[in-house]
Amino acid sequence: MAKAILFRGKVKDTRLGQNSGGLPLLLVNIPQLLTLAPSVQVPRRGHALGELGLIEDGAVLCTGGKIVSVGKTKDALRDSWIRKNRRKIREIDCSGKVVLPGFVDSHTHPAFTAPRLMDFERRIAGATYEQIAEAGGGIRSSVEGVRKASRSALAEHVLAGFNAMLARGTTTVEAKSGYGLNLDAELKSLEAIGDAAHQWPGTVVSTLLGAHVVPREYEGREEKYVRIVCKEMVPRAAERKLARFVDVFCDRGAFSPESAEHIFFAAREQGMGVRAHVCQLNHCEIAPLLKYDPASLDHLDHVSDDDIAALAAQSIMSPAYQTVATLVPGANHFLGLGRFPDARKLIDSGVPVALATDYNPGTSPTTSMPFVLSLACTHMKMTPAEAIAAATINGAHALRLAERKGSIEPGKDADLAVFDVNDYREIPYWIAGDRCAAVIVAGLET
Ligand SMILES: [Zn+2]
Repeated sequence: MAKAILFRGKVKDTRLGQNSGGLPLLLVNIPQLLTLAPSVQVPRRGHALGELGLIEDGAVLCTGGKIVSVGKTKDALRDSWIRKNRRKIREIDCSGKVVLPGFVDSHTHPAFTAPRLMDFERRIAGATYEQIAEAGGGIRSSVEGVRKASRSALAEHVLAGFNAMLARGTTTVEAKSGYGLNLDAELKSLEAIGDAAHQWPGTVVSTLLGAHVVPREYEGREEKYVRIVCKEMVPRAAERKLARFVDVFCDRGAFSPESAEHIFFAAREQGMGVRAHVCQLNHCEIAPLLKYDPASLDHLDHVSDDDIAALAAQSIMSPAYQTVATLVPGANHFLGLGRFPDARKLIDSGVPVALATDYNPGTSPTTSMPFVLSLACTHMKMTPAEAIAAATINGAHALRLAERKGSIEPGKDADLAVFDVNDYREIPYWIAGDRCAAVIVAGLET
């Protein structure tokens, strides 16, 4: 168990008058407080992934949107500053609840306008991912709706997705464009994500995914389209500060590893971070991509042993620039694959693993991180503790936000999820159970 940081002597600097986050908030009587402390410079790997920093009968004090102090309830209630200011503090009794950092959903595609119900039925009837794409479904079928939609209509759809995530305990989300597939519609998607982010209490990290799939009008001319991504989309998104990352879908039927390198190079030239979808449908060599310092490589269903070794070695060799392997079992589940990424092999080999929803209309229409945790435990043999760490602190590392997010420690953003369960293992146990009782974002109840 992690050593508790005592309240005594830790709260003295708090000034009530300079509180941007409303009244100071004190959560007490938390039977299981999962701090995920100590968070360090690097993502959790190996055995450390299962360490939750659990404090029994815990308490958390938040003020000014930040976590100020963390420890035992008895120490909090004895603290002289808290005793003196008790009336000005909003106190929440968390008896019978588990409190953990708000989930960091580090891979989502919320900028779409409609569910893909035709694809859903075709798949039930036995069509494969590629057969659906050939029949006019798939990613390209979401493009028309996005191109036609106004920025505000698109923002409404994005916001609806964010709100559904928040209700299930997610307080930080990565949001990709990728259903516009031309300069205007990709920029509009990023603007819509920005507009939705503005109206949402949580934190949003935007990603340009112009290279999601080659659009119909460039069929058979991947190179030409990649040039547009590199020369137009990436520079414009950077210039207007619309995205922090650039993503590429590097797979059979999408983009080649060479194209991914071109796009990564263009992104790096603009000072943007990079991440990629890799090895979802077939194996592609990921080692060459590592030199671009991707924050995350996602899916990894068909990753080779050599690439697992390269990912693990990279984690050890360059601690400041670690690449997280983000697994998205919601897609495997929804596609009915009956096969899941080999999380155990990745974790046991020392690769840092995160979990995300991959929320999107074609292959993973879920906003629920607790459901993803259930899938990870049941189908990928991750322990409940590993799944929670992968969905919080390692998700934060996958967005290079771990200095602010992903653990409950003094100085970090006061983003907390409160679950109506007695034991943290119940969070993945109650399949699609929606036990999230409350969410606190920047020290405010939502
Ligand atoms: Zn994705």
